[in-house]
Amino acid sequence: MEEVDWLAAHATDADKRKHTVEREAPRHYLDRDAPALSCLDTVGSAPWFSRASAACCEDTLWAYGVLPWQIGWSHARLVEAFDQKDRQAILRAAADLGHYVADAHVPLHTTLNYNGQLTGQEGLHSVWETRLPELFGGGYDLLLVESVEYVPDVHGWAWQVVMESHGHVAKVLSEERRVSASWAGGDVVREERGGVMQQQRAVEWCRTYDEALDGMVEERWRSAIRGVSSLWYSAWVDAGEPNLSDVLGGGESKSRRWRWFQRKEKKEDPQVP
Ligand SMILES: [Zn+2]
Repeated sequence: MEEVDWLAAHATDADKRKHTVEREAPRHYLDRDAPALSCLDTVGSAPWFSRASAACCEDTLWAYGVLPWQIGWSHARLVEAFDQKDRQAILRAAADLGHYVADAHVPLHTTLNYNGQLTGQEGLHSVWETRLPELFGGGYDLLLVESVEYVPDVHGWAWQVVMESHGHVAKVLSEERRVSASWAGGDVVREERGGVMQQQRAVEWCRTYDEALDGMVEERWRSAIRGVSSLWYSAWVDAGEPNLSDVLGGGESKSRRWRWFQRKEKKEDPQVP
């Protein structure tokens, strides 16, 4: 299987582990607005895990999420895998890092009110994360994602992304409330998904909500794609730019991503294809 197919197939492995692996679930979020995490208010904008543990107690961090630190840990694991030129480890670490970086771009992964459940807006998580991209993602301008860049401070970058996402939480909630309050028609439809009938937000309601969010979902998606690419590239640079031609992409059908990695080794065009 080509690497790009493997990565696509395993991009959600981390989510599947949530119910079987202890401490997996909190790696996917940070409930930054949980009162229990007010202990983070005094330790700077991007505290190291040790500093945060000292201020909040480690169990509290695992209870309310460790997403920004997880991105640093996953990046370190990918650097190690690149360094060892271990094909399976590289693919696994790249898939997991990509997953956590994508989660960090979702506003509702940064709040205690992650499903609107605290404000009578249940179900909002999948509306933002799944329903809107499924309906309107075809129109997103994802091919024009800006070129990747080397990220020298992954830890600080991860915190910046998480707090940017967190900055969108108020709008995600308030626009849902506003659109729903002024909505005259039915806002829920029954649709078949994977052979099962499910309640879904009506397409027109979703369109109005997506417009009210003013490009937010598309911007977060573009930013996530650029972020994943940049951290993969940064991990490879941090591993000393190993030659991967004997490890990845054997045969004729090398994926574009790995061909690009190889071009980077030759110090050619820095643009992602
Ligand atoms: Zn996740």
